[in-house]
Amino acid sequence: MMKNKIIKTNLLFYFFIVLIFTFTQFSLPCHAAELSEPTVLGKHYDVFRDPSKKITIEDLLSSTYDNSFVASKNNYLFFWHTDDTIWLRLDTDKLLKDKQESYWLEVTDKLDNIEMYLVKEDGSYRVQKRGISNMDDQNIHYRSNLFQIEEPTVKEIYIKLDGELPLNAISYLFTTDSFINKIIDYKYLTGIFYGFLSALLIYNLFLFFSLKEKAYFYYVLYMFSFILYQATLNSLDIELASQYLPKWYFIKSSAISGNLLLLFMILFCKEFLELKKYLPRFHKIGNLLLWITILSLIASFIVPDVTIANNFTIILAVVVFISLWLSGIFVLLKGQKMARFYMVGWTVLLGSIIVQALAFLSIIPFHPIIFEEVPAIGAIFESIFLSLALGDKINIIKKEHQEMQKMLNETLEHKVKERTQELERAKLELEKLANTDRLTQIPNRVRLDFVLEEAFEHAQHHETMFSIILLDIDYFKEVNDEFGHQVGDLVLMNVAEILKNTIREQDTVGRWGGEEFLVICPQTTLDDAVKISEKLRQQLENYQFPIVQRKTSSFGVTSYIDGDTRNTLLSRCDLALYQAKERGRNCVEFLIDDVNDRISCT
Ligand code: GH3
Ligand code: MG
Ligand code: MG
Repeated sequence: MMKNKIIKTNLLFYFFIVLIFTFTQFSLPCHAAELSEPTVLGKHYDVFRDPSKKITIEDLLSSTYDNSFVASKNNYLFFWHTDDTIWLRLDTDKLLKDKQESYWLEVTDKLDNIEMYLVKEDGSYRVQKRGISNMDDQNIHYRSNLFQIEEPTVKEIYIKLDGELPLNAISYLFTTDSFINKIIDYKYLTGIFYGFLSALLIYNLFLFFSLKEKAYFYYVLYMFSFILYQATLNSLDIELASQYLPKWYFIKSSAISGNLLLLFMILFCKEFLELKKYLPRFHKIGNLLLWITILSLIASFIVPDVTIANNFTIILAVVVFISLWLSGIFVLLKGQKMARFYMVGWTVLLGSIIVQALAFLSIIPFHPIIFEEVPAIGAIFESIFLSLALGDKINIIKKEHQEMQKMLNETLEHKVKERTQELERAKLELEKLANTDRLTQIPNRVRLDFVLEEAFEHAQHHETMFSIILLDIDYFKEVNDEFGHQVGDLVLMNVAEILKNTIREQDTVGRWGGEEFLVICPQTTLDDAVKISEKLRQQLENYQFPIVQRKTSSFGVTSYIDGDTRNTLLSRCDLALYQAKERGRNCVEFLIDDVNDRISCT
């Protein structure tokens, strides 16, 4: 239940965030339309590359190199890593139209060293230095390089770029008003963007604390590194931490944060997709990539050449992205539904990166939105979908657990039932063993005592009567003496069989001891008991026993009378039997009360 709720609140959370985001995106252009737009400077530049790195502003002003400048065709200038010094020249006449106005020139890219020369008509110039090497020269704490042009009367502007970082120059010219508005918009969007990412991070951190799922922990690390990477990409590290961190960090920060992002991305995806379980081969590749990323991270700190570190990180990123995307596809093909949202997230991210790459390769027209916002939005959607994927996965795991638990319970129930039945059978078996005579397989004395007890209770409570018959095989000792004990046993078994088959259904016959048998006849008069005895006597007399041929038995019969106990009843029956023996055996004697009450004898 709890995890289902998580998915629902997750969805609601993202819905509102996306709504706010979309709303601001739509509302901003109307707001911005009222302002004078900044000028994108790319195509206004003349560009000159100086591989010697020795040419100075004086050399350039001496007109020697006038013909070496080439007009730029692109709005956005990218020189990537180069050892050359790049010179840009701006003709201010067309640009700085309002001579009363104060202008701002912004170069958004992170650069080591950027110098701007404001050259006047008379050839004198003023220089402003920016970039990481001259970080303290910029009064305004802002992420990009800002140059103020207070005298619009300048004739030309020269910009010199050099250093280890990629020498890119996306630059704009603002009036003071449009610049202030740009900063307000920037602060507003940055607040929403990082606010959203931080909320996502904290939300998933809480989920981790409550669910204790490792994947959430990796997701939080991934989000953290993603925020760090985005901040580095937007030069926010310079804006916020220029006073606290050494300059070399800002030179290396994109490789450091990029590798950190890759590291946690691999960790998260491996854990989330359970590659070890579903794709052992990709799991191994993942481990290999993980180690390479760790080494690349260490290298990005210690390798002095930033170009190598940056280029290697980009190649590694491509390999990692493709591997993780493919892993998702294969896990999905293996029928693991949890990879659904994962794949959507990754495809969106890769899509945005492909758009960016196409723009770099000039296949589609370049625009700063493609460079900054498309990958950022792609990454945000990826983060959302990955977080959704986590919730979805937890839900799937929960369902699987429930089904397993159900199956386990069913098997357990079945097992318990089986065991109970077995125990029941064993108990009956034991009871039967305890109540059955081993030799003859008819009730033994224990059982007879129990039935007798029941007969007593019934007679006493319902005022009915019952009778008992005690019979003893005549001259049985002779059988043993003459033919052996085994033949004696055989006779006992035969006698038991005959008795069992002859008595009525309601009667019980059992072995009383030795060669004596007791028949209990519930709700039976003495008369009827004598008749049953007589029938039994005749059956035995006429039976052809193996080996011994003929064997007779003597019978004592009596009935329950008021005040009888087990002992008085049995003694009376025993006495009747004794009298039958006395009378010459093979006959039925009965007693109603005591020896003197003998009524009849058959
Ligand atoms: P009576 O007609 O007076 O009853 O004579 P009897 O020989 O039958 O009586 P007695 O009590 O002298 O002998 C009973 C014999 O039954 C003694 C004993 O060895 C034998 N017996 C008792 N139980 C078993 C048994 O389980 N198997 C065999 N084979 N013999 C038994
Ligand atoms: Mg006897
Ligand atoms: Mg006997």
